[in-house]
Amino acid sequence: MTVMEAQPRADVAAASLTGEAYRLKVRDWLRNELPGSYRSDSPQFSPPTLEQSIAWEAAMHRAGLSGMTWPTSYGGHGRTLREHLIVNQEIGALAMPDSVNSIGKELAGPIILAIGTEEQKKRFLPAILQMRNIWCQGFSEPEAGSDLAGLRTRAVRHGDIWRINGQKIWTSGAARSQRCLLLARTGPVEDRHRGLALFAVPLDAPGVRVRTIKSIDGKESFCEVFFDDVEVAQLDALGAPDEGWAAAIRVLEIERATNRMYRAWRFENELRHLISACKTDTVLAGLLADSHYAVRLAETVVDIEVLKAHVETAVDVLVNGGSIGARGSLAKLHWSEAHQRFAMLAMELLSKAPLPLAPSVKVALRRFEGIYLASRAETIYAGTTEIQLGIIADRILALSKGR
Ligand SMILES: Cc1cc2nc3c(=O)[nH]c(=O)nc-3n(C[C@H](O)[C@H](O)[C@H](O)COP(=O)(O)OP(=O)(O)OC[C@H]3O[C@@H](n4cnc5c(N)ncnc54)[C@H](O)[C@@H]3O)c2cc1C
Repeated sequence: MTVMEAQPRADVAAASLTGEAYRLKVRDWLRNELPGSYRSDSPQFSPPTLEQSIAWEAAMHRAGLSGMTWPTSYGGHGRTLREHLIVNQEIGALAMPDSVNSIGKELAGPIILAIGTEEQKKRFLPAILQMRNIWCQGFSEPEAGSDLAGLRTRAVRHGDIWRINGQKIWTSGAARSQRCLLLARTGPVEDRHRGLALFAVPLDAPGVRVRTIKSIDGKESFCEVFFDDVEVAQLDALGAPDEGWAAAIRVLEIERATNRMYRAWRFENELRHLISACKTDTVLAGLLADSHYAVRLAETVVDIEVLKAHVETAVDVLVNGGSIGARGSLAKLHWSEAHQRFAMLAMELLSKAPLPLAPSVKVALRRFEGIYLASRAETIYAGTTEIQLGIIADRILALSKGR
């Protein structure tokens, strides 16, 4: 029997433990239940299929490890943000695959909790956590990425129905999703920040067409999504028709600062993996001691500590009732730039391995090639580096625009 068929052995959800005792219970569950072949630092690694990922994530939810802070009435576990951070630290310490429903769990879910109706919360939230509904995010358009307020996909209301026409692009995972968190224009284009609304669009609705785009790493996760007279019920409109911009900004702040909280700890796992793989080869081990590489590796450690501090500060701010605001841009800028530097360093080191490659170097090369290619996109999605710098200049340093 696999973990996916079994009920979780240790019910972390029911544990009344806190602090370190809770951490140990979570660690124990993850390490016992995560199949070795899912760990990308292991020689047995093979990427899980969509079905396997869905089953694994549903098992994690049953064990109390997703929807941590969501109310139990919506399928969550009603735990604290600090406990959510603990779980993220433990997830990050393992080379686990990213969630196939991170948009549902980390972007759509929180915004539905914030602005959804009671009926929407009951209908959408448990389905996200139980992996019955995978979500994608339909914000970007061919002429509206950084300039999101310039989007042109239009939603027109006819009684209890909205009719949607337009096109989205770079919609990660749309081909495997059941719902799209769609930002569409309900007012005139000139109004820019007004007259925008969020919708939970069912992707099997007539008039929706999803076309995949192949990326440099060979994956087809990106999609274009076309909406041709798609009818969406008022029941699936999220929040008021004029509140879409504020809601979208809230989603972006979450995306930049508090989603995938495990990044720093995963990054640390990657650094450990790189160093241990290099140590198995005499040439690479020699390079680790070379002052040029030693300095860059030390800088990586500093980057990781800064990244951890960003996450821990964000959690403190939120626990104390504050909001993340423009601080999210500091975090986003740092994780994306630092990870890109690190991926470059890893490839530089590993490419100096002599042939034939030691088995551990082969595993590391395969993993870091993927990390390197994916890191190219990290300074683009969730807002480009230039946009983050603009936000920091404008909203944190209060410098005038356009100078
Ligand atoms: C891996 C990946 C996954 C993604 N997933 C999704 C998704 O699921 N859903 C979704 O909606 N979108 C997604 N996106 C799209 C992403 O959010 C956009 O690519 C991003 O917002 C940039 O927009 P753009 O591509 O239109 O570039 P543009 O906005 O055209 O920018 C091009 C360049 O000009 C610069 N620039 C633009 N405006 C300014 C300015 N005012 N000042 C200085 N420089 C500027 C940019 O920084 C950039 O370097 C994804 C992108 C990637 C790479």
